Amino acid sequence: MKTMSFDLEESKLKEEITKRKPNLVLLQLPEGLKPNASRLASIVEEAGAMLIVSSDPCYGACDLAVSEAKLLGADLIVHYGHTPITFDVDVPTIYFEVNAKIDIKETVTKALPHLASWSKVGLVTTVQHVHQLAEAKKLLENAGKTVFVGDSRRVKYAGQVLGCDFSNAQFVLEKVEAYLFVGGGRFHAIGVALATGKPTIVADPYENLAYPVQDQVRRVSMQRWANISEAKAAKSFGVLISLKNGQMKLNEALNIKTKLEKHGLTATLFAIREVTPSVLMQFPEIDAFVNTACPRLSLDDAPNFGKPLLSVNETLVMLGEMKWEDLLRNGWFGNVT
Ligand code: SF4
Repeated sequence: MKTMSFDLEESKLKEEITKRKPNLVLLQLPEGLKPNASRLASIVEEAGAMLIVSSDPCYGACDLAVSEAKLLGADLIVHYGHTPITFDVDVPTIYFEVNAKIDIKETVTKALPHLASWSKVGLVTTVQHVHQLAEAKKLLENAGKTVFVGDSRRVKYAGQVLGCDFSNAQFVLEKVEAYLFVGGGRFHAIGVALATGKPTIVADPYENLAYPVQDQVRRVSMQRWANISEAKAAKSFGVLISLKNGQMKLNEALNIKTKLEKHGLTATLFAIREVTPSVLMQFPEIDAFVNTACPRLSLDDAPNFGKPLLSVNETLVMLGEMKWEDLLRNGWFGNVT
């Protein structure tokens, strides 16, 4: 595995603190960057502000620690690793996107044999590699590919995908035969394949590996079908409402509760911060859960829960109000059209 290296923009951090002069900063880091917390704290304190590190998990900008900042009296949030998501934020926030400092050429070159059957390729990545998209595009073009980088304008950068937003991949759906995802791991690539229904290849520069994800995508679809089938026997449902500001979908939760009740089922609403098996195990009287929080929980972590954990669209399929084909076509991330 290659050494991971990321640009934490320490000089910019120092400049921002010196310029804005906050009294108390709340620092949020994604899991892989938490080991840098003390070093970043020293930079902020040397620039004249007090800093508190948020030690809670942080998987996306959907989880901006606004209420925690207010509770602590912090007048600035410094959030690393994600681009802003649109919801009302009334605490000043600086985002550091954290560019990866790793060579992609060798890995993208390794992906070319996997793309041999297709000439029109959609190119996608995470914010950590957006600055390398032009290089990846050139490498593909030099290999004779026609490359499409979608720009839906729903996320900050063309070609950027989030774990729950593949609109840039979908934007070029009709033009491409397959996708290349440049970045670490299978997580985003599986999302691209589910959201588009097209073959997706990973070029992972950290592992220096390239591989397709179709087998995993098939496995996820089969697991989801099994979960829906199992939930058909459930009588008592728990509807999960996230307390994370960018994930809270209260109206969606209320609507699905009403629908479940119309079908003669009981539905109890649960407010929740971290959706984990140990939290859900506290409610043994619930037969199945409907998750209105992060859609990846149902897709990726469902086997760990021991009970069905359905998304809203999967619940509609279970109730016979949506077709499985429509879910497969465009419904995994809550955007059936
Ligand atoms: S909702 Fe889930 S997938 Fe979407 S940004 Fe948040 S953590 Fe990531």
